[in-house]
Amino acid sequence: MKNTISTLLAARGISLSAPIALKDCNITRPYLLERVGITDGTAFLFAVPYYTTKCDDPARNISAYAVSRDYHRFFAALFDVLLPILRNRFPAYKFAGFTDHSPIAEGEAAVRAGLGFFGCNHLFLTTEFSSYVFLGEIVTDAIIEAPSGEIKVCSGCGACHAACPVDLTVSECLSALTQKKGALSATEQNAVLAHGCAWGCDRCQEACPVTRQAKQSGSIYTTIPFFKDNAISHLTADLVRAMSEEEFAARAYSWRGREVILRNLEFLEKGEPV
Ligand code: SF4
Ligand code: SF4
Repeated sequence: MKNTISTLLAARGISLSAPIALKDCNITRPYLLERVGITDGTAFLFAVPYYTTKCDDPARNISAYAVSRDYHRFFAALFDVLLPILRNRFPAYKFAGFTDHSPIAEGEAAVRAGLGFFGCNHLFLTTEFSSYVFLGEIVTDAIIEAPSGEIKVCSGCGACHAACPVDLTVSECLSALTQKKGALSATEQNAVLAHGCAWGCDRCQEACPVTRQAKQSGSIYTTIPFFKDNAISHLTADLVRAMSEEEFAARAYSWRGREVILRNLEFLEKGEPV
C-alpha cells in the first residue's frame, strides 16, 4: 500500500510522502476520523509544492500561495481520483483524504513522518520546496509499519525574524491583518501600506536560507499544472471587480469576501498613509 500511494502521488507531481501511525499523531479533531469510521490505522502525509515562476514576478502583490487557484480545489480533485483507486485496490480497508481541516496536527505529523522540519517562523519546511508546500494526508484503517521520528527544527539563524516588517509583540502579522474583515485602524492600514502586499506576506519565508537555497537549485518550482495554469501574480482593484463570481470563488482570497481584498487594493492604489 505504501508503494502504491507514493507512486500515485509521484505521478501527480507530489514527490514527498510518507506514512505515520495514527497513534503517533496528535489527533486534534477526532470527530473527523469518527465521521469516516476510522479509529486506528495510518496517515500517509504528503507535501504539495505550489511555487511557480509567476511567484518570482517582481510586481507580485499577493502571497505566493494566492497566486494560483485555491489549493482546496486541487486537493478535492486529487482525492476524487485517488480514493476510488485505493478503495478498489484494497477493498478490505477504508480511505479518506484531508487537508487543512484535518483530524491531525499536520505539520507535526509531517515532521515525524520525515518529510521536513519546523522553522522558527512556525512554518513547516522542506529542503526541496522550503515552506512553499501545502500538506495533505490520506488516512486509512490499515496498519502500516511506520516509525515515528523526532521533531526536527531549523538552524535558528534568525533571518525570518530580522526580515519581519512589523513588531509582532504589538501588532498582528500582516498575513492576518490583510485578511481581517471590516475597517482597519490607521496603524494597521499604514503597516499594510508600508509593506505593499494586498494579501498575505511572505517576507519571513523569502528571507529564509532554506528558501534561498531551494530557489538557487531550482528545486522550489512545482511541476503541477494546477498551480502553473491561471496564475495571477499582480492584482488591481479593477481586475478583482471584473472577475466573475466563478473566477473570484476559485481564488484563495475569496474566502473573506470581495470587499476585503478590494479594501486593501484600494488603499494601496491610493498610496497615502492615513
Ligand atoms: S508573514 Fe510577514 S508580518 Fe507575518 S511574521 Fe512573516 S514577515 Fe512578519
Ligand atoms: S530564516 Fe533561519 S530561523 Fe527562520 S525559519 Fe529559516 S532557517 Fe529557521
